[in-house]
Amino acid sequence: LLWQGLRESVPDSVVYRQGEAVTEVEETGAAGVGVRLAGGSVERYDLVVGADGYRSVVRTALCPESRPQYAGYVCWRGNFDAALLAGLGSVADSVPEAGTTVCFPGGSCVIYRIPGPDGPRVNWVLYGSPPRDGQLRLDDPTSFPPGGLTPALAGHLAALLDREFPPYWARALALTAPADTFVQPIYDMETTRTAAGRLLLAGDAASVVRPHNTSGAAKALQDATALADGWRRCGSFEEL
Ligand SMILES: Cc1cc2nc3c(=O)[nH]c(=O)nc-3n(C[C@H](O)[C@H](O)[C@H](O)COP(=O)(O)OP(=O)(O)OC[C@H]3O[C@@H](n4cnc5c(N)ncnc54)[C@H](O)[C@@H]3O)c2cc1C
Repeated sequence: LLWQGLRESVPDSVVYRQGEAVTEVEETGAAGVGVRLAGGSVERYDLVVGADGYRSVVRTALCPESRPQYAGYVCWRGNFDAALLAGLGSVADSVPEAGTTVCFPGGSCVIYRIPGPDGPRVNWVLYGSPPRDGQLRLDDPTSFPPGGLTPALAGHLAALLDREFPPYWARALALTAPADTFVQPIYDMETTRTAAGRLLLAGDAASVVRPHNTSGAAKALQDATALADGWRRCGSFEEL
């Protein structure tokens, strides 16, 4: 719905090319910027705004030295059918609408309801230390997508729940199917500059915020509105 609303607000005068991948951008001085597409063709533009996410190709051109830095901990996520809570037979028979936070030495977890295709689901996001036995690559941002959780990683999570969580919440999170559980090492991605010449970065391409405060989308929107505002106020790109 969000995407559709944004897409519909793009006026017909804008050429919107869905499914075209940019493989490289290169500043060509006064001639502007060359944009190479996956098919091999190169197109020239006066200005390129790189809003191409955390693996930004435009950032590679603007700050090739910027590398994601592993922040030292991981994020586990999962969700399950809220109706399963009824089978736990405990004092707390539901996840409150406002959500629940579990804190423990070295980590925390938020648990809350989300809508699902077949009724409400319980979603949880757990930050904690990584498994120490080399099961996760920590030198390149990646994650285990749903369905990719290995038995060893599932065992690490189960032991953490058993050791650190109040029994009710340990049993609740254990209701999550392995196919609905995934893990992401947390990385910081900061750029030394966000604009140079005729290149500009916005959103995750410019910097990736840690997930705790759920502000990445708001930051991307703020970048876009700040650019639009500057564009109206300034007479030239140099002034902007
Ligand atoms: C699991 C998860 C949960 C999250 N939860 C929240 C949350 O609750 N609240 C919040 O605020 N943020 C959340 N975020 C972060 C948020 O999604 C991002 O900060 C936000 O989407 C960044 O917006 P963006 O437009 O900069 O980049 P993106 O949304 O990543 O968009 C980049 C676009 O560029 C396209 N693209 C990339 N490379 C190329 C290329 N080479 N050629 C052509 N097109 C390309 C992509 O296909 C994509 O459409 C979450 C992220 C994840 C992964």
